[in-house]
Amino acid sequence: MPAVSYVNGAYMDHKEAKVNIEDRGYQFADGVYEVFAVINKKIVDYDGHLERLFRSLKEISLDSPIVYDAYLFHIRNLIKKNNIIDGLIYLQISRGVAQRDFKFPKNTKPSIVITARSISMGDYFSKFEKGIKVKITEDLRWKRVDIKTINLLPPVLAKQSAVENGCDEAWMIDSEGYITEGSSSNAWILINNKLITTPANNSILKGITRTSLIKALKKKKIKLIEKRFNIKDIKNANEAFITSATQFVMPVIKVDNNKIGNGKVGKYAHVFKDAYMEAIQLK
Ligand code: PMP
Repeated sequence: MPAVSYVNGAYMDHKEAKVNIEDRGYQFADGVYEVFAVINKKIVDYDGHLERLFRSLKEISLDSPIVYDAYLFHIRNLIKKNNIIDGLIYLQISRGVAQRDFKFPKNTKPSIVITARSISMGDYFSKFEKGIKVKITEDLRWKRVDIKTINLLPPVLAKQSAVENGCDEAWMIDSEGYITEGSSSNAWILINNKLITTPANNSILKGITRTSLIKALKKKKIKLIEKRFNIKDIKNANEAFITSATQFVMPVIKVDNNKIGNGKVGKYAHVFKDAYMEAIQLK
């Protein structure tokens, strides 16, 4: 549990921190968010996450409540105040507090909340060695999932259905039978030494981890194809993965009833994880 959180300009005891019941984030999911990993007290891929936050704000016509450079200051403060070595930063901005009305309120300051919590890299590495199972679910989301909004009911339901079926993640499938992405991660398969991931258009969130891994793999001269893939491709896959700020690179060993490869973590999983870990930017 975090000790100290940042809420609308003040650092507070996390247990005491509150938001207003008329907050538009609470009533309409009218807001955006970011999640940053922290490794060894440093923020992972900070610039990428912050640029995406500003893009998300722009796409929903919301002004940043604080200046660009203040984010780094507050995130670093929270890392210190919460004694984070390895952890996660959650940052959310909503359209603020106003009497409930669909249209944008006038002269309302956006609300901002930043929290920090510890994670164990040891837990990540042991999970990596086992790999995870994935369930296919229907992609029920809206048409602008490229924006990182707090409107997350469809991925919440997808993840819950995965967990109830003994899986760790859901891969969502569109009306044409293609996998878009995970409920909170990007999806990848490897067929005959070729790595395949869904192109970054409006049907997926362009993961910062995805972008970093692509850069890292280019240096290693690994062939990547950005194209859609379906269940038939998954059945032919030698390996599969997810990427996200919280899971880094995580191997997938089963999708529904289909074992991937021999059902064990494959050799490329290590190559990709190591390439990613070497290439991350720490700030
Ligand atoms: N897709 C979705 C739907 C996500 O929620 C996330 C994680 N927030 C990702 C992909 C991965 O993005 P990132 O690597 O920036 O964490």
